[in-house]
Amino acid sequence: MAHTLKPLTVAIVGRPNVGKSTFFNRLVGRRLALVDDRPGVTRDRREGEAKLGDLALTIIDTAGLEEADADSLEGRMRAQTERAVADADVSVFLIDARAGVTPADRHFADLLRRSGKPVVLVANKCEGAAGEGGFYDAYSLGFGEPVPFSAEHGLGLADLVLALEEHASEDAVPGSARRDEESGPVRVAVVGRPNAGKSTLVNKLIGEDRMLTGPEAGITRDSISVDWQWKGRPVRLVDTAGLRRKARVQAKLEKLSVGDALRAIRAAEVVILVLDEKSPFDKQDLQIADLVTKEARALVIAVNKWDLTEDPKSRMNEMREMADRLLPQVRGMPLVPVSGLTGHGLGKLMEAVFTIREKWETRVPTSALNRWFGALMEHHPPPAVAGRRIKLRYVTQASNRPPTFVVFGTRTEALPESYRRYLLNGLRDAFDLVGVPVRLHLRKTE
Ligand code: GDP
Ligand code: GDP
Repeated sequence: MAHTLKPLTVAIVGRPNVGKSTFFNRLVGRRLALVDDRPGVTRDRREGEAKLGDLALTIIDTAGLEEADADSLEGRMRAQTERAVADADVSVFLIDARAGVTPADRHFADLLRRSGKPVVLVANKCEGAAGEGGFYDAYSLGFGEPVPFSAEHGLGLADLVLALEEHASEDAVPGSARRDEESGPVRVAVVGRPNAGKSTLVNKLIGEDRMLTGPEAGITRDSISVDWQWKGRPVRLVDTAGLRRKARVQAKLEKLSVGDALRAIRAAEVVILVLDEKSPFDKQDLQIADLVTKEARALVIAVNKWDLTEDPKSRMNEMREMADRLLPQVRGMPLVPVSGLTGHGLGKLMEAVFTIREKWETRVPTSALNRWFGALMEHHPPPAVAGRRIKLRYVTQASNRPPTFVVFGTRTEALPESYRRYLLNGLRDAFDLVGVPVRLHLRKTE
């Protein structure tokens, strides 16, 4: 892969208080490597190394540099920020989504545009609803789709990786990033409670001979991925817990680490949650499923040990009912009975994986979206709230992976939650997005 060649150098840029230091600490953590102490530089700049998934990064922090006296704004701050940008492959441009776009942000936007270097726009402080307005304002800076992020809470890392990876591979092979992404292997994580049968399932999938058992082959590294093919289609199993466990033997054998699961989820596009047929949907299972939908990954549930099931048909109905009731946010998600032991159902499981990735990547044609929306507004417009109408004007798909829609209108803040859900379900039904996490944002217009 292109991005394994060398670390991508990233400069963090933005006005004071947008969260640059917090962002830096979030990525670099305690691994802070060195403090640059170049002659002539009165304020040290911080650099650190970070690893996000497969992506190795050298990160340059410019926090503090921008705090120079107002009259030296054109001088010292600028020179240093410009130097950081010049040294970097990519600039990560932070704005504060809670504060919205300010004149100072526009100043930095101009500086970055002049640098001619690639820019990844990050809307920080996006946790909760308070950042929504600022997130959409950020489009107006002209750097395309912002990455919704929360440095304080560690949300959005997966989207950040995707955005950075595009630049990493662009550098190596100009113009190849998008094509790679579309035809690349489906990245799958297999997660679940201890003893659900993950290792058995993975080994059955990839074939015993491919199993990594020795201490070599990168097993002791943070993450293990295995590339293989399913009926000629490339698959990458990321952060393969079943394999890692063999290496770390007893250490934390029966303990589910949510941190481990989270890392696997973030590295994946599709997550297979393995349940034990005998005790499905317990607290840990639901916790993991919740993480998957929060991170907006596509979820496939494998109900494992099906070889032990006595009345498969009624058991399956039960499972379906439980799944939809307990995980309403991805109601209708693929639920596949399997046996890692016998291999039963593995073909269906992989079909479900490929199908759901396709849905997760869906781009709905604008014309179809507008037709759907027009008909809906004609027949089922939002209810009046406190005697006043709420007018929804139009809808657009802001991004895919997962499908993300924005509806623009007046008084959107007053729109009842029930109507928002109605829109969301309508989108799912109309565009074959059932079972995929779909994001819907409301945006006020005048
Ligand atoms: P810098 O001046 O750009 O380096 O910003 P800092 O990292 O010092 O952060 C400025 C303030 O924003 C601090 O009070 C942080 O705690 C806060 N902050 C940083 N990231 C987030 C975030 O994701 N969400 C929220 N709500 N606050 C944040
Ligand atoms: P992991 O902790 O999730 O990786 O689970 P393992 O793959 O180590 O399996 C835990 C136990 O369940 C082992 O004793 C397996 O033999 C058993 N097991 C795994 N899959 C199946 C299955 O499909 N059917 C049955 N009957 N047992 C299974």
